[in-house]
Amino acid sequence: MSRLTSDDTISAISTAIGEGGIGIVRISGSKAIAIADELFTSRSGKRAEAILSHQAVYGNIIDPENNEIIDEAIVLIMWAPRSYTREDIVEIHCHGGPVPLRRILDLTLRLGARMAEPGEFTKRAFLNGRLDLAQAEAVMDVIRAKTDASLKVAVGNLSGRLSEQVKSIRQSVLGMIAQLEAAIDFPEDDIEEATAADVAKLINQVKSQLASLLATAQTGRILREGLATVIIGKPNVGKSSLLNALLREKRAIVTDIPGTTRDIIEEYVNIRGIPLRIIDTAGIRDTADVVEKIGVEKAKELVSQADLILLLLDWSAPLSSEDRSVLELLSDRRAIVLINKSDLPPKLELAEVERYSEGRLVLKISVAQGEGLAELEQAIADIVYSGQVGQGEAAFVNNLRHADALRQANDRLADAMATIAAGMPPDCIVVDLRAAWEKLGEVTGDTVGEDIIDQIFSQFCIGK
Ligand code: GDP
Ligand code: ZN
Repeated sequence: MSRLTSDDTISAISTAIGEGGIGIVRISGSKAIAIADELFTSRSGKRAEAILSHQAVYGNIIDPENNEIIDEAIVLIMWAPRSYTREDIVEIHCHGGPVPLRRILDLTLRLGARMAEPGEFTKRAFLNGRLDLAQAEAVMDVIRAKTDASLKVAVGNLSGRLSEQVKSIRQSVLGMIAQLEAAIDFPEDDIEEATAADVAKLINQVKSQLASLLATAQTGRILREGLATVIIGKPNVGKSSLLNALLREKRAIVTDIPGTTRDIIEEYVNIRGIPLRIIDTAGIRDTADVVEKIGVEKAKELVSQADLILLLLDWSAPLSSEDRSVLELLSDRRAIVLINKSDLPPKLELAEVERYSEGRLVLKISVAQGEGLAELEQAIADIVYSGQVGQGEAAFVNNLRHADALRQANDRLADAMATIAAGMPPDCIVVDLRAAWEKLGEVTGDTVGEDIIDQIFSQFCIGK
């Protein structure tokens, strides 16, 4: 039997691990309420079965084997289908310590639930039609949002902003297919030709809709994943000072990267809503000092992984061979050249810097005096939002999987145009359009394999 249709009851700790005021164990499935019935006794003696949907009830969690009170709790029951998974859900809100949560989770498992896999609640929400796949993915984007702008995009997609656009494009493609299939039933050449000409116009419209969606993909990805940024420059030029200034004033969040056993930490700086992910790998706390601490080879590698390089020069010293070798690391990468220590008397020749910077933006700053940092922020925002209307109410493609599917759909539409241009019969055009229609369906999960679904949800956190 397919795992997708399993109707067993799952349970997990849905709040973050560690100490907290409140922690939640969540159970979903046909046995959820019966389990709650066995482990919960309300103050008024009401049984879980009798508790109304969406009503919080206060009482004790009691181990039925020995009648030991494990914790006080509030139990919230959501009867199917008015729940996140569209199954019966029980939430047990207890004290947020690892031991009470673990004990209550164990109890639910003993009473017939099974441990939920990562993302399994949301997977059920998807499989039961409460969310489409793009919305389900947006759930994790909301949880992992790094800045207010990232959150806005994620919440927009969760509400179906992207899905609606993709569905409407998909509907148009389906309309074209129907039109062509009708023409196949009329074998007169002129009807076929007229239909093909009509469809070509429609394809162009749809392609331009796709193009405007895809135009959001780069910014969308950056808002979701962060702008991988590395600060480079010779020793003493002010890299650590710049990093510290950014972290002091703009620190967004620090997260452990899930699934890594090594101690990798990501730090995000919030620049006008853009999460700058300052590249930091295990062992190099002071990322800023990449070149001096890890050598040129590793620095090259970091530079090649970065979306943005901030290269520092010293206004108070002539351009040195070290500076030139750091400038050479840039090759064709996106970079801003920062001339630091502008508060000191000048020794640097601007013309020379500009020659080496190859048309890149060169900004004079003084980290010590806090000068030029607002201009730096503006420059970063300009790079990321270039050509974008901003983060208004538009749909955003913030996910590589979606961008890939949309690009491939676009390619299939281009195929259809070529097929029309070659004067091929309608059924050939239909083949291309069907391929585009399938690709579009991957975004919302209408046409996507179980393996991809599993892979997507395996990246979720436990309990979500
Ligand atoms: P790093 O080796 O590139 O990380 O450089 P640091 O950030 O450690 O800075 C080296 C020295 O330059 C420190 O003494 C800083 O206080 C000083 N410094 C950094 N930025 C400025 C600046 O804008 N003006 C002046 N005058 N000194 C600065
Ligand atoms: Zn340093």
